[in-house]
Amino acid sequence: MESTGNVLILGSNGQIGIELILKLREMYGNDYVIASDIKDAPDIITDHGPFEFVDVLNKDSLDFIFKKYQPTQVYHLAALLSAVGEQNPKLAWDINIQGLLNVLDVCRRYDVQKVYWPSSIAVFGPNSPKVDTPQYCPMDPTTVYGISKMTGERLCEYYFLKYGLDIRSLRYPGIISYKSMPGGGTTDYAVHIFHEAKKTGKYESFINGDTNLPMMYMDDAIRATIEIMEAPAENIKIRSSYNLAGISFNPEDLAKEIRNHIPDFEITYKPDSRQEIAASWPESIRDTRATEDWGWELRSDLKHIVADMLKNV
Ligand code: NAD
Repeated sequence: MESTGNVLILGSNGQIGIELILKLREMYGNDYVIASDIKDAPDIITDHGPFEFVDVLNKDSLDFIFKKYQPTQVYHLAALLSAVGEQNPKLAWDINIQGLLNVLDVCRRYDVQKVYWPSSIAVFGPNSPKVDTPQYCPMDPTTVYGISKMTGERLCEYYFLKYGLDIRSLRYPGIISYKSMPGGGTTDYAVHIFHEAKKTGKYESFINGDTNLPMMYMDDAIRATIEIMEAPAENIKIRSSYNLAGISFNPEDLAKEIRNHIPDFEITYKPDSRQEIAASWPESIRDTRATEDWGWELRSDLKHIVADMLKNV
């Protein structure tokens, strides 16, 4: 695909950013996709294209990078996730909300054509329907992360309605991947389990065996992100954030599928504070609006995820 200008990723060095950068560089060319983060980038990012240190809380540093590269598309991934957010709620709020406001403002000032910002299933809470959670329903998140994502959704829609900023967003479920480690979310167990299964043949889960959560393989998450960004603007009818379902399973289901590859694999349970967060989230999500509006279709099932993860971790 031909580049239509520079693409900037903020918070590029995390679980999702690394894989998104690799895909975007394949699509638009290495030189047109600029990675940025507050922490060092791995060689796989710096060896092939531009990387800059940018803190989304520092308006001068944002201004510097926007002036230098004049991006036409911006992917804003910098955030503090659910479990780490609970360790430092004030910092989580600052990064997730003040950081988002700084990015939305600089995108407006530099006439960015399209902006991507991810929300999360953490926007739902104990009074949201647990099964087949619809796009619109009661939302009473109990974590600072969920509260910040719910507020972020309202801000994104506000910037679209008030200023015409073309912003697009997905409520990701827990993301499973092997190229980079997860950054401190509640669904991280579904990545750690594969590393431990291969290393020691056993895993102690911090989530109870029967707690179902919506999850998605990284390939699907990256494809959804690119597809919503490539869709014609008139097809994007939800400007807060789209539900994205993935597949739902619990640690017991996952262990069972792992045993099809490693028959002696053992799982034990020691739930911690993350169990409480997981219990407040939906078990499954309804994402029909994404399918109707911009043609979303899931590809990876549990069988494929487990086989591919065990091959690659
Ligand atoms: P991550 O924690 O792995 O990566 C986040 C990155 O942001 C890190 O590299 C971190 O250094 C960077 N960052 C933190 N503070 C920053 C700042 N002030 N300025 C610039 N960069 C900063 O997270 P991820 O899993 O890659 O998630 C990316 C986005 O997707 C986040 O908005 C997250 O809420 C959302 N999301 C992720 C998941 C998941 O399962 N991974 C699920 C739902 C939503």
